[in-house]
Amino acid sequence: MKRLLDYDEMQELLSSLDNSIIEKQNPIGYSTFGYAIDHYTYGNGKYHVIITGGTHSSELISNVFVIRFMEKLSKKEIFIDPKIYTIHFIPFVNPEGTIIVTSAIRTLISKDMPEDAVQTYCLAYYRNCQIEGDYAINYKDNSIKLQQMMFRHADYNCLDDKHKALKESLKFLFQKYDLPEGCLINWSSNGRGVDLNSNVESSNFIDRITNGEKIYDKLHLNNIIRSNPGPVGCPYYEIPGEIEKENEALFNFYNKINTENDFIGSLIYHSCGGLVYYLDGHNKINPWAKNDSYAKNDLKLAKIYASSAGYKLISEKLYTTMDAKIRTLFPITLLIELGRVRATPLAQFMDFDLPGSGEDFKYVYTKIMTHNTNAILDTLPAMLEAYKNKF
Ligand SMILES: [Zn+2]
Repeated sequence: MKRLLDYDEMQELLSSLDNSIIEKQNPIGYSTFGYAIDHYTYGNGKYHVIITGGTHSSELISNVFVIRFMEKLSKKEIFIDPKIYTIHFIPFVNPEGTIIVTSAIRTLISKDMPEDAVQTYCLAYYRNCQIEGDYAINYKDNSIKLQQMMFRHADYNCLDDKHKALKESLKFLFQKYDLPEGCLINWSSNGRGVDLNSNVESSNFIDRITNGEKIYDKLHLNNIIRSNPGPVGCPYYEIPGEIEKENEALFNFYNKINTENDFIGSLIYHSCGGLVYYLDGHNKINPWAKNDSYAKNDLKLAKIYASSAGYKLISEKLYTTMDAKIRTLFPITLLIELGRVRATPLAQFMDFDLPGSGEDFKYVYTKIMTHNTNAILDTLPAMLEAYKNKF
């Protein structure tokens, strides 16, 4: 089975699923450049769950994991009672970003490349990111990055011509903000260069940016400026606090599911560190907090998910992201960082056992897929119980 998939391949896989099991619904909305934010459902039970992937497009494994999970349901390899649950899948929260980053991947790793070659490129990418992380620490080096050099032929032209407006936007961003060569491989933002998770009214960056501060990213991304629209971390396009169309659509969708149904919770997938985030003590500093009842169950549910997946628990310290907003305002929502290795978008697709390597480095891809599939199956009944007990 092919591990690394591009946007078109993921769309093909989705359209091949049994549509009597996984039903395609109307999109929850459209991005600025007109891309549908797709919505699929499984089951028609009373209790509703939302599962999303790809907020940060460079965290490509999160899209692939959500889609492969849908495939397992479609092929009846796993079972969730469709008379009890309705599961809403949003496999591409950020379709523009996913098109950008997977087009960049295709400048080096072709569709038909043999899997052993793909695997060694993923390893090379991982190692190059590690080297640059070390150089950043040891030599305060913020020059050109090895992992960006691997993808130096990925400029806006790597997108297919059918993405004309998106290409124009990238061309504009590269010229206006002098983005580093090869940085499309690091693209986490949407096509306007806005990071959807940072794109909230309470972003702690807004004051710093309007004060003229230049904020750099860290380690192997420390040549990227987060305070300008670009690959990573920028909270708004032009007007401070302006909300992107993807986030508006996602928030309205959560609101609708929560208002019209028995909404028991959601799972948001990212991919850096093998962590499960839960809410903690949010009354004091959380700008969206109404009560602390969700927080208590968040921890309980986070523990179930984390022990099933073998991940670590981590409490939310900053309430400055779109995910924190969703997690505060709606029933139990866990944010899961898939896999222990970093270096997105490629390291999470490594799937081998090198002699002498540590546990975190063995069969990275297979472990992400199996551990998190099991963790969802373990967490859903507990989520339902928490809901029925009125939190
Ligand atoms: Zn992320």
